[in-house]
Amino acid sequence: MTRIFSGVKPTGHLTLGNYLGAVRRWAEVDQHRGEALFSVVDLHALTVEHDPARVRRLSRQAATLLLASGLDPEVCTLFVQSHVDEHTRLSYLLECTATDGELRRMIQYKEKSVRARDAGQGVRLSLLTYPVLMAADILAYGADEVPVGEDQTQHVELTRDLAVRFNQRYGHTFTVPRATRPAVAARVMDLQDPGSKMGKSHENGAGIVYLLDDADTVRRKVMRAVTDSGREVVYDRDVKPGLANLLDLMAAATGGNPEELAGVYESYGALKKDTADAVVELLRPVRERHAELAADPGYVDRVLRDGAERARGMARPLVDRAYRAIGLLPAV
Ligand code: ATP
Ligand code: MG
Repeated sequence: MTRIFSGVKPTGHLTLGNYLGAVRRWAEVDQHRGEALFSVVDLHALTVEHDPARVRRLSRQAATLLLASGLDPEVCTLFVQSHVDEHTRLSYLLECTATDGELRRMIQYKEKSVRARDAGQGVRLSLLTYPVLMAADILAYGADEVPVGEDQTQHVELTRDLAVRFNQRYGHTFTVPRATRPAVAARVMDLQDPGSKMGKSHENGAGIVYLLDDADTVRRKVMRAVTDSGREVVYDRDVKPGLANLLDLMAAATGGNPEELAGVYESYGALKKDTADAVVELLRPVRERHAELAADPGYVDRVLRDGAERARGMARPLVDRAYRAIGLLPAV
C-alpha cells in the first residue's frame, strides 16, 4: 500500500496557499489512496525567532484546522512531530549523510536567513539543517509520496538524494520518495505582492488569506489584490502574475481551468468579484467545522495522542534498522 507523509509548520495561521497547495488534497485524495500520515511539524517552527506560547497555540490550531479540512483520524494518522522521538533520532544520521554545501544551496535557507538577518536576528543553525529533519520526517515512515506545494520540491529532492546515498553506502534501508503536487494552485502568490509566494510567516497579512478569516475579510483581501496593467484578461504567469494568481484561485476553488476561465471574463473587476465569492464558499465549511472542533479540545487531544502512538509504532523499526545499518552498536 502506498505510504504518504506530509506536514505543516505551526509558524503562523494556516493560509489559502497551505490549503490549496497541500491540505485540501490530503483530505480529498491522499488519505483515501494509501496509508497516510500528516503531521504538525512543530520542531520546524523553532528554526526561526519564535514565541513559545504562540507555537503551542498554533500547533493545536493547525491540528484542529487539519481535522476541520476533512482529515479523518479513522482513515489517516494525524500527530505532532515532537511527540515522536524517531524524527530527531533519524535526523542525526541524515546529518551524517548530508553535506554542508548541499544545505547552503537550499533556496528557502537563503531566503529565510536573509529575512532573519534583516530583522537583526541571528540565523539559527536549525534553519540550515531544517531540510535534514524534514528528510527524516519522510524517510522514518518509508513514505513513497510526499504531497506538497511547489515550494517544497527542492527539499523533497534533497530527501531523495539522502535516501539514495544512505542506501548505497549502508545497504537498502529507505524508500526513495517522490513529491506530488496539485494540478492547479501549487504555488499561490501573495495578493499584494504576486512576485512572492503566499506564506503564513510573512509579516504583512493584507495579501494573505487565512483559513480562519471571516467572509468580509476574505472578500476585502481578494478585491484589493494587486492586478497588472492593461485590461485584457489573459492567463500569463510571467507578464500578468497578479491576474494569473486570481485565475488560479478561481480555478482551484471551482474546479475549473485557469486558461479557459481567462476567456470567460471581460474585466478584472468581474473576475475579482467571482473569485472572492468562490474563496469565501470554499473556506466556509472549514471555518464552521473549526469552530465546532475548537469547542472540544479533549477530542483533538485524543486524536493527537492516538496518532502519535501509531506513528511511533511505524517509525521505530525503520529508524532502528537505520541505526544498525550505519554502524551503531545495538543496545542490549
Ligand atoms: P512558512 O512561511 O513558515 O514557511 P508556509 O506557508 O510556507 O509557512 P509550510 O508549513 O512551510 O507553510 O508548508 C506547508 C505546506 O503548504 C507545504 O506543502 C507547502 O508546500 C505548502 N504551501 C505553502 N505555501 C504555499 C503556497 N503559497 N502555495 C501552495 N502551497 C503552499
Ligand atoms: Mg514554507
